[in-house]
Amino acid sequence: MRKGFTKLLSVLLVVGMVLSLTACGTEETQTGSSYDVVVVGAGGAGLCAAIEAKVHGAENVLLIEKMPFAGGNTLLSWAELACAGNWLQIEQGIEDSNEQFAKEMWEGGGKVARKEMVDIVVNNALDAALWLRDEIGVVYQDYLVHEGGHSVPRAVEPVDLGPGMIYPLLDKAEELGVEILYDTKAEELLVNDEGRVIGVQATNQEGEEVTFFAEKGVVLATGGFGANVEMRQKYNTRWETLDESVQTTNSPAATGDGIVMAEKIGAQLENMEHIQLYPFNNPMTGVFYGIEAPSWSGEGIVYVNQDGKRFVNEVGMRDERAEGILAQGGVAYAIYNQEVADRLNLEEIYADEYAQCLADGVFYKADTLEEIAEYFDINAENLVETMEKYNEYMKAGHDPEFGRKTSMVPMEEGPWFILKGVVSVHHTMGGVMIDTEARVINTEGEIIEGLYAAGEVTGSVHGNNRVGTCAISDIVVFGRIAGKNAAQGI
Ligand SMILES: Cc1cc2nc3c(=O)[nH]c(=O)nc-3n(C[C@H](O)[C@H](O)[C@H](O)COP(=O)(O)OP(=O)(O)OC[C@H]3O[C@@H](n4cnc5c(N)ncnc54)[C@H](O)[C@@H]3O)c2cc1C
Repeated sequence: MRKGFTKLLSVLLVVGMVLSLTACGTEETQTGSSYDVVVVGAGGAGLCAAIEAKVHGAENVLLIEKMPFAGGNTLLSWAELACAGNWLQIEQGIEDSNEQFAKEMWEGGGKVARKEMVDIVVNNALDAALWLRDEIGVVYQDYLVHEGGHSVPRAVEPVDLGPGMIYPLLDKAEELGVEILYDTKAEELLVNDEGRVIGVQATNQEGEEVTFFAEKGVVLATGGFGANVEMRQKYNTRWETLDESVQTTNSPAATGDGIVMAEKIGAQLENMEHIQLYPFNNPMTGVFYGIEAPSWSGEGIVYVNQDGKRFVNEVGMRDERAEGILAQGGVAYAIYNQEVADRLNLEEIYADEYAQCLADGVFYKADTLEEIAEYFDINAENLVETMEKYNEYMKAGHDPEFGRKTSMVPMEEGPWFILKGVVSVHHTMGGVMIDTEARVINTEGEIIEGLYAAGEVTGSVHGNNRVGTCAISDIVVFGRIAGKNAAQGI
């Protein structure tokens, strides 16, 4: 929320000019401001694009944002970025390669994405992390994150998570002279007679129509549609329903605006039916728990149903875990013990979250398994048996029931921690089709001149399932490409 209110529209419309143009096929004369590059959406992808556009020769770069502040989903995120061969892997002696990473990201997405798009992300991910660290000033933790779908710990995490990435990007954009307009919502893309995108029609803070012309290019970076129930319902083919009964981890601004605008001028959409559910979230908020960290920290964790039985690999792919939880009636419980909490220092880091969740009745801690079972009305006898089997499997390094292969950590002693969880809409894999240069492709398979896109607004990278920590790699890599190419007219 820091800087959003400081630059108001009244200071922007300096360069008024009258141009004749075609807005989505309609001839009209309009007054507007002219820039080299206009970026729509000040989330992670948009900020990266605006910075790179400026660095690569665009003199005037405008970034418009419909909310009163920058950040989008990226601000809410943990901003964990997967990159093979990173400095922490080297320090810890973890062997990894781009080939292995690309294989896992592509296979994790059901081999549905165009492989060359996955390769672009993977081959540029380490450079993206180094750019964020060394050029932008993002400070990283000294530990790695190990999300499901990765064979090794591979992701770096900023100190302060999403804000720890967004605010340094925002500072850099402002330092470079990118003009940022908040409360300014893009409504339509403007197209000339040759089919080239020449600007954006928007609504400003006062509710007035404003026009921004882009001499070199427009970059769409408006994010996904996880918060748009109508679009979720329109495109979803996999889950029984994604109506209001399913909450979302996303910002309310994730309403798919860029997808709708681009489709209206002939952009090809792809993978729209693939919508990811995050498996385990706080039923009160729909957002995932910090205190469920053992599931992505290579630690001990067990999911059980009301019957006290395991039903899925707790550290497996998100879609498998979500399917598993839905098959239990949509509610599950995550359990870990004091040793796990201590190793991750959870009670200190998340003291407030534990207190709130206890008050809300979605978390409980007790000395025995019987007590935690009783609190949530779980079959206690089965739970004790489940934990015995879990420990047997973890010690043997082999989980014959659910095929867990990583985070093989036994948990034998209490006290025990238990959380109640539900699924939430987390990521929309579909969006506008782009090529490897971040240029938007139309339904004829041709490039739409003057239009670039990056981030969750695109549908070309994650296939049918976005592997954890790969979205930030994607938005930074393609945000940078889009900004640079828009500035250089590539
Ligand atoms: C809680 C949470 C945690 C996550 N953690 C991770 C993680 O650790 N690692 C990982 O890889 N992925 C993570 N993800 C996914 C990842 O954060 C997102 O995919 C990514 O941030 C999307 O970036 P973006 O720039 O494309 O969109 P956003 O960051 O959402 O930015 C889009 C911006 O466009 C603006 N906008 C939208 N429409 C308009 C319009 N019409 N006019 C003007 N502006 C508009 C929005 O307000 C927003 O500011 C997480 C997601 C969530 C929700």
